[in-house]
Amino acid sequence: MVGVMGGIGTEAGQRAAQQPDWPEPQELRAVTGRLAKAPPLVRAEACDRLRGRLAAVARGEALLLQGGDCAETFAGVTPQAVHGKLELLRGMAGVLGRGAALPVVRVGRMAGQFAKPRSSAVEHRDGSALPSYRGDAVNSLEFTAAGRRPDPQRMERMYEASATTLDLLRTYAHGAPEGQAGADIPGAVDGPPEFFVSHEALLLDYEHALTRTDDTTGARYGTSGHLLWVGERTRAPEGAHLDFLAGIRNPVAVKLGPTTETDEVLRYIERLDPDREAGRLTFVVRAGADRIRDVLPALVEKALAEGAAVGWVTDPMHGNTFTAPSGHKTRGFDVILDEIRGFVEVHRALGTHPGGIHLELTGEDVTECVGGADPVHTDDLPQRYTTACDPRLNRRQALDLASRVAELYRG
Ligand code: PEP
Ligand code: MN
Repeated sequence: MVGVMGGIGTEAGQRAAQQPDWPEPQELRAVTGRLAKAPPLVRAEACDRLRGRLAAVARGEALLLQGGDCAETFAGVTPQAVHGKLELLRGMAGVLGRGAALPVVRVGRMAGQFAKPRSSAVEHRDGSALPSYRGDAVNSLEFTAAGRRPDPQRMERMYEASATTLDLLRTYAHGAPEGQAGADIPGAVDGPPEFFVSHEALLLDYEHALTRTDDTTGARYGTSGHLLWVGERTRAPEGAHLDFLAGIRNPVAVKLGPTTETDEVLRYIERLDPDREAGRLTFVVRAGADRIRDVLPALVEKALAEGAAVGWVTDPMHGNTFTAPSGHKTRGFDVILDEIRGFVEVHRALGTHPGGIHLELTGEDVTECVGGADPVHTDDLPQRYTTACDPRLNRRQALDLASRVAELYRG
């Protein structure tokens, strides 16, 4: 394990996209050394159970609902905030499950979603330039030189914040986060009373430090979360992030943007799912409402031609971001819904299963996305715009969206 760890910040780090410029190699090694000895955050057995649930998604027998903040923050790990997201996902799962008459697998973007890839390494503001915020796991949102300096000790705070979040989820979930038996979810059709956690596997120093060998099977698991994904900016098929996913037994996902090529789909399948095992690999497509109908068919057909039983999920958020006149990054409810509609249409036309949705949301009454049945207008955005990164659906918008998506599945 020490051998694997030692390379990440150095040799492997050279070719890994989106890694922070950690200022102190010695401090980084001390942190990853401690993390490598820390208890796993999730159990291998629970990762296997989620892989089984995602196999049902891939076979068309279940839906995946995955959601949470764009960027979790340390300050956001409060009982109220965690409870709010859990309850919201529970409510949405009930609505979706009834609409589709399928069980809904609930997965939070929670307990680990603390690191962000950035399109620019530098942020310019009021004539000064500082390193971009890369999530609480790396630096501070505060726009000062000290705040934006990457601090490896923040990865230990990420571990602690994730552990606290998992404890809160265990407290509140009717089913424990690792799927122990619990009360039924009202409204879900045969819905398993379970809740799993997921995040983007971005910081390879952190992810490798939390990778463990399972005693019973001898397989390697990423123990920082049940489902780990690689994002649009780090999905190079021969890159270090794909290497990481290829080396763990967890269910894994890859985000696919509008420029994804069919050859890339082939490489992801070859590298991540060589045994064509349903539930192992999920593709999360975020093409944009204007591109989804053009881009998705060829990708799905490629996976079919390869004989891969992958899960197909839509992320209707990341391809539909725009800047409002006030300067706030936002997304429109109708456009989000239109991407989901396009996703469902393409799958219906191909006879494949539109396996679920991946959303950025919060249980709080924020004003970050526009539209919805009780609409947020662009003028309202400054009122309660509290996200650390991308705009989230608020509770009302998320529930409205779940009802509209339920109609799509019903129809
Ligand atoms: C995200 O999920 O917050 C994100 C950065 O997405 P993507 O990698 O699809 O751009
Ligand atoms: Mn985001």
